[in-house]
Amino acid sequence: MLIIGLTGGIGSGKTAASDHFQALGITIVDADVASRTVVEPGKPALQKIAERFGPEMILDDGGLNRALMRTRVFATEEDRLWLEALLHPLIGEEIAQGLQNSTSPYSILVSPLLLETTQASFVARVLVIDVPVDVQVERTMARDNNSEEQVRAIVAAQSDRQQRLEKADDVIVNDKDLAALHKNVETLHQTYLKLANN
Ligand code: ATP
Repeated sequence: MLIIGLTGGIGSGKTAASDHFQALGITIVDADVASRTVVEPGKPALQKIAERFGPEMILDDGGLNRALMRTRVFATEEDRLWLEALLHPLIGEEIAQGLQNSTSPYSILVSPLLLETTQASFVARVLVIDVPVDVQVERTMARDNNSEEQVRAIVAAQSDRQQRLEKADDVIVNDKDLAALHKNVETLHQTYLKLANN
């Protein structure tokens, strides 16, 4: 089974691109969705988090108190490493399951951290959605209603655009309208169908 990894910085258009692959019939496995699934109410990982950090990590509705968790792991490296050691294998299993269940000619794993984690080992090929930083900042501000300063800080904390591009097998430059993005997706879809047939 051919698996393509799709990645890019915040607001680069990963979802916009993967939505179109999905519309073409391709199974999308989203690492962000997997990372939320493993800490859903009642999941064992959530219990382990509460045992280590206290019951206040679980909200009244049974879900993870993400804001509090973020504060803890930002403050202490040891806590961050502990949490990663707990969650990364579970997220990996969740992703593997989603990919195994796929029946489309090839599948796409969408992940903002594809190239920074062992998730890269799932994929045969890397597609990077690339945008100039100014466009990235503008679109993210409009979508999330965040200040320019906040968005630029997130962009700066993520992988460098150039480093990401160096690891790409395919690149879509998403600096025009959505119709142009869709056209690029359709062209790559044909390439991937051929690759999947070989
Ligand atoms: P994140 O990493 O934050 O989840 P993402 O990479 O999935 O972001 P999207 O949510 O797909 O990015 O795109 C960011 C915003 O830009 C969205 O509001 C989306 O609709 C818009 N957008 C994406 N591509 C284009 C385009 N070519 N033209 C206009 N708007 C676009």
